[in-house]
Amino acid sequence: MESYSVYIHIPYCKKKCRYCNFLSTAPEVKDIDTYIDAMKSELKLYRPFLSNREIKSIFIGGGTPSLLEPEQLKQIIAAISLSLTIKDNIEITIEANPESISAEKLKAMHNLGINRLSIGLQSFDDNVLKSLGRLHNTDSSFAAIEKARSAGFKNINVDVIYGIPSQDITKELNGIKAVKPEHVSFYYLTIEQGTPLSFDKIFKPLNDDAFQELYLKIHEEMVNTGYEHYEVSNFAKKGFQSVHNMNYWQRGDYLGIGSGAHGFFKTGLPWIGMTAQARYENAYPPSAYTEKVLNNDGKTFPISRVEVLDTDAETLEHIFLSLRTWQGIDTELVKNKTLMKHLTDDGLIKIQDNKLSLTVKGMCVMDGIVTELF
Ligand code: SF4
Repeated sequence: MESYSVYIHIPYCKKKCRYCNFLSTAPEVKDIDTYIDAMKSELKLYRPFLSNREIKSIFIGGGTPSLLEPEQLKQIIAAISLSLTIKDNIEITIEANPESISAEKLKAMHNLGINRLSIGLQSFDDNVLKSLGRLHNTDSSFAAIEKARSAGFKNINVDVIYGIPSQDITKELNGIKAVKPEHVSFYYLTIEQGTPLSFDKIFKPLNDDAFQELYLKIHEEMVNTGYEHYEVSNFAKKGFQSVHNMNYWQRGDYLGIGSGAHGFFKTGLPWIGMTAQARYENAYPPSAYTEKVLNNDGKTFPISRVEVLDTDAETLEHIFLSLRTWQGIDTELVKNKTLMKHLTDDGLIKIQDNKLSLTVKGMCVMDGIVTELF
């Protein structure tokens, strides 16, 4: 039975962070219940089409899903298992922010079968957190990890942002060593147009050399601390690679539920009469999504945009995604074999068993390499 992943989008946050360009908004109290009703209806719509397939991972992301009450999370998980088939013992992740998780909530999440917690710590420096407009401080980050461990979480990811002016990366790396998560995602700060940060003169992207130096330092320290650098931005202790994210990078199918969520099926989207492989995006903002799903007796798919992928787009996507991970790609796909030899000599790529993968140095200049090679 072919499996797929499920992504549930909770588009609500208490307050917008200064760098945020994600689909999130502040909720009214009643909004969340209506939104959950809409997701239940959306999930039901997929039942006839996915009855012969199984879910291999669930990711509840946002936004800030940890804003939800345990009862609301319970309803979401129950709705998934009522409408779709879930494999046994799968990875179920929830994203959480330190200021919105209490010991009781964490225990309740764990009791619901959520077995992976992804905490948006972002930094171990209070000044950096303030400059990013985060609602928590370092003390609450440490407390969040402690509460999560006591609640029974044995698989914790922390998100860290790097590339921030005045940030001391050693402080961040020491913070990671202190909290000992199983997985770390390091995101480079991108300054998105229109965000409060983009109007702040001190926030400028690093030059190439400074970026490379920082990236190599993070890699070296993380590997020396016992993490595998298994994807451009991700590190995991042995056996703790994210099943859900690996599915994205391997171009596996995934169902996106909720406002602004994306989905992708190689087998097409038969529920809207499409047989070619395609990606889709749901309606946003949440009011447009709930209106689309809940009106018309819950019979309308809330899809607002579809992108059909032809063979060329599929190959390019396969190359880009595969090269993000240490698994790499078959050398037979490489068009420019002379360049492949040069890049190997320069230490930017490595070839093993007919697989080409990027070295850590190559990961710093990934985009340039990929467009020239293929
Ligand atoms: S918590 Fe995440 S999604 Fe919410 S505002 Fe901050 S960066 Fe954006």
